[in-house]
Amino acid sequence: MNRELKFYCDMDDVLCDFDKQARDWIPDYDGWNTPVEHMVDFLNSCPVEFWSEMPWMPGGKEIWEKILPYKPVLLSALPRECDDPEKFLRAKERTIIGKKAWAEKHLGEEFAKTALIVKACDKASYAHNRDCILIDDRKDNISRWNLRGGRGILHDPSAPDMTHFVIDGVITLRTKSVYKSRIW
Ligand SMILES: [Mg+2]
Repeated sequence: MNRELKFYCDMDDVLCDFDKQARDWIPDYDGWNTPVEHMVDFLNSCPVEFWSEMPWMPGGKEIWEKILPYKPVLLSALPRECDDPEKFLRAKERTIIGKKAWAEKHLGEEFAKTALIVKACDKASYAHNRDCILIDDRKDNISRWNLRGGRGILHDPSAPDMTHFVIDGVITLRTKSVYKSRIW
């Protein structure tokens, strides 16, 4: 085991099934097409159970258990900003509380404490070097991460096949990805 490897793991649609939960809870939810104001209003009114009761993604536990020995850090995104700063601030605070509630319930208190919940475009600021590995379902997050010198694993839950990522010969991650198997 290479103890220098530092894993950062996205939450929504990698570990937990945000999309399914949103479709079950939010009227007229339509993924990224959902108006920002509508999302913010929902986040400001939903109970914390919207977050804490979110189901695992299929395969999410497998990824988490694989990286667990490396003491991974959750790196998850804040909601998109709306025009009303007060509303957004409240949605942001409630989202942080909710995501940490999920982490505490499903992963343990230590991971809730260390979770980083930041603007999506700021995730890459944690890519300090090539020992920093991000698992994320968004291509733009992975591209920014790689540009900063980290190693990004694009996890695509809709990909038909499983891919093996072998990192420094010490860990093989089996994940869904559009990439072919990759050995670093
Ligand atoms: Mg995600």
